[in-house]
Amino acid sequence: MHIRVPFLDLNAHHAPLRSELDRAIREVIDSGAFAGGPFVEKFEADFASYCGCRYAIGVGSGTEALWLSLLACGVGAGDEVITVSNTFMATAEAITYSGARPVFVDVNEATYTMDPAGLEEALSPRTKAIIPVHLFGQPADMDPILEFARNHNLFVIEDAAQAHGSKYGGRSAGTLGDAGCFSFYPSKNLGAFGEAGAIVTNNPRLQEKLRVLRDHGQVRKYHHSMVGWNCRMDGIQAAVLSVKLRHLESGNSRRRAHALQYNQALEEIEEIVTPSEALYSRHVYHVYAIRVEERDEIISFLNERGIQCGVHYPVPIHLQTAYQALGYKTGSLPVSERIASELISLPMFPELTEAQIAAVALGLRGATTAGVMA
Ligand SMILES: *Cc1c(COP(=O)(O)O)cnc(C)c1O
Repeated sequence: MHIRVPFLDLNAHHAPLRSELDRAIREVIDSGAFAGGPFVEKFEADFASYCGCRYAIGVGSGTEALWLSLLACGVGAGDEVITVSNTFMATAEAITYSGARPVFVDVNEATYTMDPAGLEEALSPRTKAIIPVHLFGQPADMDPILEFARNHNLFVIEDAAQAHGSKYGGRSAGTLGDAGCFSFYPSKNLGAFGEAGAIVTNNPRLQEKLRVLRDHGQVRKYHHSMVGWNCRMDGIQAAVLSVKLRHLESGNSRRRAHALQYNQALEEIEEIVTPSEALYSRHVYHVYAIRVEERDEIISFLNERGIQCGVHYPVPIHLQTAYQALGYKTGSLPVSERIASELISLPMFPELTEAQIAAVALGLRGATTAGVMA
């Protein structure tokens, strides 16, 4: 009999925290601070301190974090924002919703993050900002990106939605550019009990503008200095996140240990490319993705044996139907396109057991000997 390996097991993650979480939610109900308020302020202070930066601004989702950051930097109609195509749709959507146009560059073949070498060609007089994505829990190579931005007077907004606790050199992902955007979607390394997000920054003017923007442009009740939107964080999400933040480091360490076990178990299988951790990086393995040529066949083989997998992401954004009007053709971003057809995300969550990882590795070895792989 095979052991079942789920892709993610949130119940296993919450079970040991259950009484702490129940108590935190009860406190919010008793206080009535449901939208914004003291629980959000507490989480903002906790999260800023965890990231080692001055400010955190709680918002309703990672998508809102990206969108508001662009607005706060003054990005709008007629502008261009450079980003990558192998990301979740939200990165590009936020650019479109700011009024600007997304311009895509290719990624580094080893880290799957923004290749700074592509920036020069993507630059135009309309370029206003760059959004590198710290994909799968590993930061993009920020030094050359920041240098390019400085030389051309561009904002850098980090999409750190998959990189809570990840490090570039010694510094936390999200704190290197002008603003860093986090998602607390339930499946992320730090996940709420619903939708939530945050922006971190060291810039006092930017944080002030973000706080006003996320609350209908209000400077004080019913006094609006600009047109904003309702992007506040919920009190219950903030209270839950403050509890779960205390367990983020141990969860990340366990993810790293699991990645090491996967790497060792898969090392001998020639047809598999395991993830590489760049010298500059502390990878937090939000996603543990391998690359293979016969991707779809291998996923079916594993699924038949009770092993769940994911694909992040099967269609790069520049080739999505929604972005046909941007005019990108197949072949324009070769690395992004190739990895989109090769990546498989294996089960990864802190409570994964050694036996489950061994079962996944055994399944992949089985796929090799069964001749599924070319
Ligand atoms: C999850 C995610 C987002 C969006 O976050 P939401 O909280 O779901 O809005 C943006 N970018 C990346 C890379 C993500 O993984």
